[in-house]
Amino acid sequence: MSNQDWLERSRQAVWHPCTQMKQHETLPIVPIARAEGMRLTDFDGNTYLDGISSWWVNLFGHGEPRIRAAIEQQLASLEHVMLAGFTHRPVVELSERLSALTGLGHAFYASDGASATEIALKMSFHFWKNAGRPQKSRFVCLENSYHGETMGALGVTDVPLFSDTYAPLRRAARVAPSPDARQAGAGMGAEDVALAAAEKLEALFAQEADTLAAIIVEPLVQGAAGMAFHHPRYLREVRLLCDRYDIHLIADEIAVGFGRTGTLFAHEQAGIRPDFLCLSKGITGGFLPLSCVLTRDAIYQRFYHDDVSRGFLHSHSYTGNALACSAALAVLDIFENDRILEKNRATAERFSAALAAVRTHPSVRHFRHLGMIWAFDVETPRTDFARAFFAEMLAAGCLLRPIGNTVYFMPPYCIADAEMEQFAAATLHALDKLGCAGASAAGPALP
Ligand SMILES: *Cc1c(COP(=O)(O)O)cnc(C)c1O
Repeated sequence: MSNQDWLERSRQAVWHPCTQMKQHETLPIVPIARAEGMRLTDFDGNTYLDGISSWWVNLFGHGEPRIRAAIEQQLASLEHVMLAGFTHRPVVELSERLSALTGLGHAFYASDGASATEIALKMSFHFWKNAGRPQKSRFVCLENSYHGETMGALGVTDVPLFSDTYAPLRRAARVAPSPDARQAGAGMGAEDVALAAAEKLEALFAQEADTLAAIIVEPLVQGAAGMAFHHPRYLREVRLLCDRYDIHLIADEIAVGFGRTGTLFAHEQAGIRPDFLCLSKGITGGFLPLSCVLTRDAIYQRFYHDDVSRGFLHSHSYTGNALACSAALAVLDIFENDRILEKNRATAERFSAALAAVRTHPSVRHFRHLGMIWAFDVETPRTDFARAFFAEMLAAGCLLRPIGNTVYFMPPYCIADAEMEQFAAATLHALDKLGCAGASAAGPALP
């Protein structure tokens, strides 16, 4: 079977996510036969370097042998058992280890990031209800936030393309200004933007704290907004405001957790602890769906009662799946055994050096880097930039999927020097073709 056969059958039988299917009349689907390390291989033998970790889930490359072995070993004894009334080794060990790493406890599991968002929102509201304050039932999210596509998660997602269509179904959250560092004017830094955003947040809290249960934030990087970075000071200010006004802080680290920003969890860089921590994506190294919500013990205790309805009666059939938990345990082992955070610092230095010419390309604006994320905005007259860039890169054997005019790299941590060079060369070539070379005077200054 060739690529052509599979893409035709996929077009007939599969409804692809986040896609206007009609665009696949011209933009081909890429059927993947196998993958190893950085490399995806299609049915015709073409290979593509996975520059975005397959939608940000893959940490150590495809087919990582130790994660595969952990799943195989678990498969030999227990594939799954319901978690209501039952428990098993991988879920207990994983919960203990996540608790030791975060200082938060009682891990609650689901399978996708959006479900973790739903759980954190429901838990926060239910906590206040159990505390005799049921009027605290509304949420705050940030401008351009993204927390998933299910109905509750969409309520705290401020991306019009995803949420506007469903406006009549959505219970919209209050939207606070984004601390996006790109807003810094002349003589301002990222920290000034953070403080200004926090000041506006305080005004909102001061007015509406009685009805607010929680604020949900993507710490340090708003991913789907187009990799919008903010200063850690913002998180410190939000933590202080949440304490002052009795509002929960939900850290959605679904995208930024597990070393992506340079620390194991992004909120560590602000020296704060959230009330709820949502994890998913990298948690199994990109092998199996798993998500998790951790919370403070004082919150857990508010549910612990003789009255059944005060308990958190939420569940998913695959909650705490043993195979997924065993993959997550292997991921934590790899972080320790391979000293991944330390190794990533050296890898990041080499990739930044490889991207030096991209950084200074005349169509590039706001080049930014944090941990294992690189992003920049492209000045171009093309309205179809994202798709055209995607196609150019694919032809050069690289998978990158810009968000609007923002190009970003979120590679698996195993990226090698030759692969960095291939990305840099292909990106420069695509920018020369699609960017607006020579327009540098018109745009804002490079940071
Ligand atoms: C991807 C993502 C989600 C949603 O996770 P899914 O597994 O796609 O449901 C939520 N929040 C953030 C920050 C994400 O990046």
